[in-house]
Amino acid sequence: MNRSQFLKSCLIAPWMIRAANLYAAKTVGQPRLKITDVKVIATSPRNNYSWVFVKVYTNEPGLYGVGSANDRYLAWAAKAALEKHMIPFWIGKDADRIEDMWQSTHVRSYWRNGPITNVVQAAIDSALWDIKGKRAGLPVYELLGGKVRDAVPLYAHASGKDFDSCAESVQQWVNNGFRHVRLQMGGYGGGGYIEPGQGSRPETGYDGKAFDEELYVKVIPELFQHIRNEVGWEVKLLHDVHEHLTPSAALQLAKRLESVRMFFVEDILPPEQVEYFKHIRAQTSTPMAMGELFTHPLEWRPLIENRLIDFIRCRVGMIGGITQARKIAALCEQFGVRTAFQEGGENDPINQLLAYHVDLTIPSFGIQEENDFPEEVLEMMPGTARIRNGYLYGNDEPGLGIDIDEKIAAKFPLRDDYHNADWTSVRGMDGSVVKP
Ligand code: MG
Repeated sequence: MNRSQFLKSCLIAPWMIRAANLYAAKTVGQPRLKITDVKVIATSPRNNYSWVFVKVYTNEPGLYGVGSANDRYLAWAAKAALEKHMIPFWIGKDADRIEDMWQSTHVRSYWRNGPITNVVQAAIDSALWDIKGKRAGLPVYELLGGKVRDAVPLYAHASGKDFDSCAESVQQWVNNGFRHVRLQMGGYGGGGYIEPGQGSRPETGYDGKAFDEELYVKVIPELFQHIRNEVGWEVKLLHDVHEHLTPSAALQLAKRLESVRMFFVEDILPPEQVEYFKHIRAQTSTPMAMGELFTHPLEWRPLIENRLIDFIRCRVGMIGGITQARKIAALCEQFGVRTAFQEGGENDPINQLLAYHVDLTIPSFGIQEENDFPEEVLEMMPGTARIRNGYLYGNDEPGLGIDIDEKIAAKFPLRDDYHNADWTSVRGMDGSVVKP
């Protein structure tokens, strides 16, 4: 029995035979594929983008893969971790052994599962998936098992300063073809803020915008009832609490939102208080999404295996890339939880494609966050996925299907004056910090 007959006898799907044959044709008799160099490309094509990319080169002429070590808040630390610590560890290693690289990189710095170690790990992981796809002549989604859906449904970001402008914004996204719309009123925590100087303040000290959770728990259900009245019941509605609430307020909000039938409510608790999900679960049917800030498997595993959430919200780059995302998706499938990978804000086109390739192939997919990039990014990163009618479309090029134009990236050097992260310091009436 030859190789082809053997594969067929195992009832392997046709795409797998094609992939195996293609890969064999490309690799049999070839020397082992080694990592020969890694180039770091750090760029800020917009003020809120602090992107650190890699190009991982191999001993096969012209064959390289791209990856992202995106951490907006610690971008320079990610760059240094790559240049000073990880790249020397990777050079000379086998580029074909993706899982082995993931495991060895995971323990390389001994302490593990931190944001920096995870994004650095995601960078090499995605570059190796990209390389394997290019070598096989197949898009990464084929290597992951092939498509179970034709494109990736996205949720859009609606916003407004008051109820009416919020309704207009939701309606606009619906008109643009989106079935899922997340709504915030005036930024995270919006609807719960007491204006600067107003209300009962301490005699000295904090006088700025102050978050009040009772106000928030009152206003947000009224806002979503207004959306149902104005836009109707067809649109699937999402809302991000961004961890602002104490556990009892979180439960009250979830119960009050039942009547407007949310698609999900996100991060209703901070990661430190996730054990309260069992109380929320027992008392309300409002679907819960959680996990944007998760970096460690022990954070998501209990929530998934105890069926305490409906959607896992990790950012693929922040958990270590495609290799880890697939494992989470497989765990979710066993327990009836769905994925909703976090891809908004300052995220980059490579990370968006990591989620895309995984999403196309997993039965446990729920939804992905929308992120539309400006013209200068589309020019700098040919192959960036595109949004049409509420769906994300990559291309069918081998690998991830994206590249980095280094000449354009060099025009936008990584900013070293990024101090605009004070949005994370939300404060209450007495001046104390509220979880952002
Ligand atoms: Mg969020």
